[in-house]
Amino acid sequence: MTTSDWKKMFTQLDFKPIKKAKYIKFNSPAARSCGRALRKCQNCGRLGAHINKYGLHICRQCFREMAVGLGFKKFS
Ligand SMILES: [Zn+2]
Repeated sequence: MTTSDWKKMFTQLDFKPIKKAKYIKFNSPAARSCGRALRKCQNCGRLGAHINKYGLHICRQCFREMAVGLGFKKFS
C-alpha cells in the first residue's frame, strides 16, 4: 500500500463487500490536523523535500522542472 492512494485495493475488494468494510475500518488514513502527512506535493503527491515558501506546495523535484515556468532564475 502506498501513501499516495490507499484506495487502490478497492477495485479488487468491490467483489467482497465484508472484506472491503474491514479494509476501510483498519486501513483508512486518520484525519490529520498537523504534521508532514498534510504537506504533500500538489503535483506528484511526494511527502519529502516540500517547498512551502511563496505558497508553492510542491516538492523539490517538481520545483526543478517548473522553476523556469514560474519565473525563477538560476544565477550559478
Ligand atoms: Zn512533486
